[in-house]
Amino acid sequence: MPVYVERYHVTGALHALLAGLKRVGNRLVAPLRRGEGPNKFRLSSVDTATTTIDGSVGWRNRPPATLACPQCDSEIYQRHAHDTIDCPRCRATFDGNEFDDLELIAFECPVCRTEMRHGTRHPERFGFPEWATCDACRYHWEFRHSY
Ligand SMILES: [Zn+2]
Ligand SMILES: [Zn+2]
Repeated sequence: MPVYVERYHVTGALHALLAGLKRVGNRLVAPLRRGEGPNKFRLSSVDTATTTIDGSVGWRNRPPATLACPQCDSEIYQRHAHDTIDCPRCRATFDGNEFDDLELIAFECPVCRTEMRHGTRHPERFGFPEWATCDACRYHWEFRHSY
């Protein structure tokens, strides 16, 4: 009988723990569903991890980008994330936060100017790259740290 009672207590505690974890999980997921884009970017937390690889985090610290002009297909160079996107040929102009409406051709490594590889980690949530890495000098950029 005492064994049975004890087992009941453990099960109850475990159940409460799981319910608590589920609540925490919902809280963590909720803010990510708001469709954050480059213009709604929040400051990422301070980088506490020790790393020897050169790099940066956050949309604001994004590497320079080359975009395709949707009107004339010319390449548009946008150095900083919030710079205006001005086509040098047809003079089309886009606001910095219209970045994800344009086709990205490449990111340029801010250290050695090599074309970087880039990709998305959550294509269902974000319509823009979340990372870029330079194979030449190992410079790496992340939209944000791990959740
Ligand atoms: Zn153009
Ligand atoms: Zn590089």
